[in-house]
Amino acid sequence: MDDVIAACQAALSRKGQVVVLTGAGVSAESGIPTFRGKEGYWTIGAREYHPQELATWEAFERMPWDVWAWYLYRRGVCRAAQPNAAHDAIALLDRKLEGRFALITQNVDGLHRRAGSPIARTFPIHGDIDYMRCANDCVLDRWPIPEAIPALARGEAAGEAHRALLRCPRCGGMARPHVLWFDESYDEPRFFLDTARRIASASALLVVIGTSAQTNLPWQVVTLAARAGATIVDINIEPNPFGEIAETSGGAIRGTAATNLPRLVDAIIHT
Ligand code: NAD
Repeated sequence: MDDVIAACQAALSRKGQVVVLTGAGVSAESGIPTFRGKEGYWTIGAREYHPQELATWEAFERMPWDVWAWYLYRRGVCRAAQPNAAHDAIALLDRKLEGRFALITQNVDGLHRRAGSPIARTFPIHGDIDYMRCANDCVLDRWPIPEAIPALARGEAAGEAHRALLRCPRCGGMARPHVLWFDESYDEPRFFLDTARRIASASALLVVIGTSAQTNLPWQVVTLAARAGATIVDINIEPNPFGEIAETSGGAIRGTAATNLPRLVDAIIHT
């Protein structure tokens, strides 16, 4: 940890942005399962689905209400969870560094928002599970999922009255969760593609936390930051490709986010 703190302090003395990139591991200690563990699986009928099969446009087109049931269950889990010490530490870092800080998150759970990370400097590149948008893309807008729609239990389906609320307020067509699915592409208006690239290219320090490096834009963020000469640090309970990159840069911390990040942030803000 001391080597990583020293590397972060050296990076801070240079010009450039301080960027945090988070994945599902940051919310694991809040009780929200990552996609990698067995809790991620979901049963429909006689079949067990992996999230990578269900979080797809292809699955939504084939069985929209089953996919909605999975999202409304997960939305309930996210709403019942509380931000942990890692979310709090990131919000504190934002307050201390303001103009030179940005948070890029793959998480859809809203916990960064609830911990106090401001919308202006938080970029959810995979969407937000509390929001829906037109399934036919009649407009780019997204809307909060109506409060009248309850959290569903595992295996429970949305009733007719609730299905009637899951419609696009503009065209009346079916609404879909505002998340980026595995068979879809990033863009700027909905998923901050250009913004994330620009921030990464201007970074002096990039702290990557709790991601398994399976998705495309996070790879671009890490690659662009490395190309810009940023110091890269990784916090994860397991070895992962970003950890390997970090080992040749600012260092990799093998441990949980909620345990390690507050200590790192405390050292950074007292530089
Ligand atoms: P992932 O599930 O692929 O990987 C999670 C990573 O976190 C793993 O590398 C794991 O070793 C690490 N990890 C687990 N517990 C940790 C802890 N306590 N501290 C530090 N690291 C820990 O998640 P991903 O890489 O974010 O990507 C999968 C996709 O799933 C993303 O698109 C994301 O939008 C979505 N997702 C989001 C949530 C959420 O919003 N909380 C939850 C599950 C999946």
